[in-house]
Amino acid sequence: MFYDTHAHLDYPDFQPDFADVLARARAAGVTKIISIGTNFESSRRAVALAGQHNEVFAVVGWHPSDALAAPDDVRPVLRELAAHPKVVAVGETGLDYYRLPSTKGGTPADDARDKQKQATIFRQQLEVAAELRLNCVIHQRGETLDDTLAIMTSFAGRTRGVFHCFSGDLKALERIRAAGSLVSFTGIVTFKNGQNVRDAVAAAPLGEFMLETDCPFLAPIPYRGKRCEPAYVREIAEAVAQAKGCSLPELSQATCAAALDFFPRLAS
Ligand SMILES: [Zn+2]
Repeated sequence: MFYDTHAHLDYPDFQPDFADVLARARAAGVTKIISIGTNFESSRRAVALAGQHNEVFAVVGWHPSDALAAPDDVRPVLRELAAHPKVVAVGETGLDYYRLPSTKGGTPADDARDKQKQATIFRQQLEVAAELRLNCVIHQRGETLDDTLAIMTSFAGRTRGVFHCFSGDLKALERIRAAGSLVSFTGIVTFKNGQNVRDAVAAAPLGEFMLETDCPFLAPIPYRGKRCEPAYVREIAEAVAQAKGCSLPELSQATCAAALDFFPRLAS
């Protein structure tokens, strides 16, 4: 038994065969799937899917890569969406300096505006999470760990984060753990060039990390390059267990317990 703690089930990729996707997950022993919102529309669709399917749960939020499209204040709508009992966290939120406006012909001033908006809606989402006693799903990419942890520091003790799709080094892992947050691992752990992630897996104590697919992205070997789906948590789990030197039942127990602790509403 495993959980997929980060999936984008609302993406159009899954529309043609959604029932089969869920059936294959079930057959692979993936008993809970968390569908992550990236803006209001996607968050609403995630909540609707959670309402329709027992094994599906939702996270509601606004992704940093789309920050400039967000309203000035994302809090009112997120509060409303998060009232649903199957919403287990707020996100995905965080900071991403990879695709700033200057990479698409924008000016340095556009970049500054984008970074500022990312930080603003990140703080707002942490605030909603703290208010509602929920944790946060954190997207952190590029040279943003310092800024991300700095913003989270003012919410210490009120909300924690899971740094999803963790692919940083051991020092980054240490800093995230010291901040009271945890990480989750994707199919990158199966990639030939994923040794740094396998090193992080080996260093992360059992019970302090979770598993995810980030589907439809990042399909593990042997599906690399194809559409990813929740059933592939199985392949990810096998690679993680090998990197950790533990058995699959041990890994199942520890990762599910970590998820239930981090997302208490998942127990319902
Ligand atoms: Zn995601």
